[in-house]
Amino acid sequence: MPERIGIYPGTFDPITRGHLDIIERGIRLFDTLIVAVASNPGKAPLFDVNERLEIIGGEIKKYKSVRSESFDCLLIDYVKKKKASTILRGLRVMSDFEYEFQMALTNRKLAPGIETVFMMTSESYATVSSRLIKEIARLGGDVSGFVTPAVEKRLREKFRKNPGVAT
Ligand code: ADP
Repeated sequence: MPERIGIYPGTFDPITRGHLDIIERGIRLFDTLIVAVASNPGKAPLFDVNERLEIIGGEIKKYKSVRSESFDCLLIDYVKKKKASTILRGLRVMSDFEYEFQMALTNRKLAPGIETVFMMTSESYATVSSRLIKEIARLGGDVSGFVTPAVEKRLREKFRKNPGVAT
């Protein structure tokens, strides 16, 4: 059997308990799961790509079959380069659907051999988004239910050093 490689792409700015929930579910589907961090400078991320990779590294080191990498090319080209055949995405609320549907169909047009697989998040994380967490953390709120203690610490440090930074 060829190795089943799955690619879980995203911005992960920063990685949340919702992302980790999808990773834990994805582990069961693939021999190797690559968490692929889009550098996405256009989105003006709070954490640069190396910081995001470092944070993710701390969270996934306990999983033997998961690793993380960054990419800055077209996702489909990255997936082909990795000899993967499946893109993994998470679904939370209905509002995710339209965007995800459009992206999956576009990627299918670009590369018909590559499938996108969606996994439904656990209901406890259905409303968790990196964007919301950054906003709460920036205003000094408690984000411990949404991110791990290590990520919470990174957020606190980031906002302490850059109090005026935009989220
Ligand atoms: P992107 O900029 O590509 O949307 P994100 O880091 O926001 O990157 O999300 C990456 C993937 O993880 C997307 O498929 C998104 O729907 C999914 N995701 C984000 N938050 C959650 C969550 N709380 N539960 C499940 N999936 C999630």
